[in-house]
Amino acid sequence: MKISNIKATTVTVPLEAPLRHSNGAHWGRFVRTIVEVETDEGITGLGEMGGGGESAQAAFNGLKSYLIGHDPFQLEELRYKICNPTASLYNNRTQLHAAIEFACLDIMGKKLGVSVSQLLGGRVRDAVPFASYLFFRHPHEKSGLGEVRTVEQLVEHCRELKEKYGFTTHKLKGGVFHPDYELECYKALAETFPKDRLRYDPNAALSVEDSIRFGQAIEGLNNDYFEDPTWGLNGMRRVRSMVRIPTATNTVVVNFEQLAANILDPAIDVILLDTTFWGGIRPCIKAAGVCETFQYGIAVHSSGELGIQLATMLHLGAVVPNLAFAADAHYHHLVDDLIVGGKMGYENGAIRVPDGPGLGVELDREKLAEYAELYRELGGYPYDRDPARPDWFPLVPNDRWASPESTTTAGGGRA
Ligand code: MG
Repeated sequence: MKISNIKATTVTVPLEAPLRHSNGAHWGRFVRTIVEVETDEGITGLGEMGGGGESAQAAFNGLKSYLIGHDPFQLEELRYKICNPTASLYNNRTQLHAAIEFACLDIMGKKLGVSVSQLLGGRVRDAVPFASYLFFRHPHEKSGLGEVRTVEQLVEHCRELKEKYGFTTHKLKGGVFHPDYELECYKALAETFPKDRLRYDPNAALSVEDSIRFGQAIEGLNNDYFEDPTWGLNGMRRVRSMVRIPTATNTVVVNFEQLAANILDPAIDVILLDTTFWGGIRPCIKAAGVCETFQYGIAVHSSGELGIQLATMLHLGAVVPNLAFAADAHYHHLVDDLIVGGKMGYENGAIRVPDGPGLGVELDREKLAEYAELYRELGGYPYDRDPARPDWFPLVPNDRWASPESTTTAGGGRA
């Protein structure tokens, strides 16, 4: 079998309400690029990558000269063709490789009539549990609904998600407001849901000292881990030496060199495996094996996903025996998906691993066209722009927090 063509289509899918991140960053909608790898046998595989636009589509087009004629079963050769580790100075294609790897695994599964998780070692679980992934949210720019800013709004939002989806683990995405205020929010969640597990992730916005202060203040709570409170391996190592909660990262251990460095001089206890950041499902499984050997924890990370990427996370979660934590997904914040059948459903906080051949999801062509048109209409999303401080550039660590006293809309106004 040979790859005969590669197509990349950038889409925009709306969210229930804009999701706030550290330093004023926020997602008002998701921009993703859908990749279709066609073969001479008529089988097409699906991939997905975050971000997009002309640059993503051009980058995938640029791979055609390497990949047309390539056998999609030859995955190690594929890795060398796209991101040869001996020429790493000259390429930075890990995320492109991930999307093509997803598509090749999808092709292999469809050809053999088995699911990707069956191909990659077989399932040790049929459903993957997820955390609620709580965000502070701007109100929706049209409806004005969906704001999460006050302690009461946050607790109510968590209660709604728990009732609707069955989550028993809650991750608070912080770094938006002053750490003292977010500490109050986190403690309110712990008090309201005493049997549930919690995790906090301010996207590395805190100083080492604020991280230590925050971490020590929550040591007695039901924490899974303390995710990227500050930036850098050295900063995280200093936090770890002072806080009795396992540390976790999706920022400073995202490849094998960093994993080796972390094992030799530990800063991180739980490695959050992202099928895109690590370059595919298979590198994540390899990393999970290293973590199993050295007894480090793992979890499945979310960098934002539509159904194709979610399927890669589910197949990964299905095959790694040492998965001891609920996975993360932004998925429940989306209003729609572009896979046939619409959004995948949750049952008791978990999503079933798709059973069909390959990734087990198919593109809804009408939805693909609709959301590609929406991308053309709206363009890219300025993720890093703080609507309340348009001229301000984020400093690390943050020294100017947003105010929880008043509503700020993603459009820039204050209500
Ligand atoms: Mg994170």
